[in-house]
Amino acid sequence: MTRIKLATVWLGGCSGCHMSFLDLDEWLFDLAQQVDLVYSPFADVKVYPAGVDVALVEGAIANQDHLDLMYQVRDRTRFLISFGDCAVTGNVTAIRNVLGSAEPVLTRAYLETADVRPQLPKSDLVPPLLDAVMPVHTVVAVDCYLPGCPPSAERIRAVLEPLLRGDRPALSGADLIRFG
Ligand code: SF4
Repeated sequence: MTRIKLATVWLGGCSGCHMSFLDLDEWLFDLAQQVDLVYSPFADVKVYPAGVDVALVEGAIANQDHLDLMYQVRDRTRFLISFGDCAVTGNVTAIRNVLGSAEPVLTRAYLETADVRPQLPKSDLVPPLLDAVMPVHTVVAVDCYLPGCPPSAERIRAVLEPLLRGDRPALSGADLIRFG
C-alpha cells in the first residue's frame, strides 16, 4: 500500500484546530499506519517538502511569513484542505480587519497598552503583519473546505477517510458543514 504524505500547517489561528486533530484519539493509530506526517507543528519540520499529497491548513493568512509559506504549500501539495473557520472565512483572526490596516493594531498592542518600554516589534525579528487578514482561498486555490471552530474530530475523519481510499471527500449535512 502506498503511504500518503500528510502535512498540517499552522498559520494565523489559535491551534484549536490542531488540538481537535489530536481528538481523533485512537484513530490516530490507524492513520499512522497509512500516512507519513511530513510537515506539521507536531513534527517540527522546518522546511515544507515537495510532493505532499494532503495538507490541512489551519488559520488565516495574517503576516508575510504566512503568505510566503502558503504559496510554497500550494506549489508542493496535491490536495489542500482549508481547515477550520479561520482558514475558511478569516473568523477570529480577521476581527482586526475592521481597523483598516496593521498600524492601529500594532499601535494599540505595543504602544498604548504597554506597561514598560513601549516599542513596536522590529521587522527583522518578527514577520510583518499584513494590513488585512485573508482567508486561505483568497490567496491560493483550495480543494476542500472543512468548517468549524474547531472542526470536530468526526469532521476531520470524514475528510481524511475518503482521501485514504483515494476518493474525493464530499461533506454534507449540518453536522459536517456548519460554521462555529
Ligand atoms: Fe482556533 Fe477556531 Fe480559528 Fe480553529 S477556527 S484556529 S479553533 S479560532
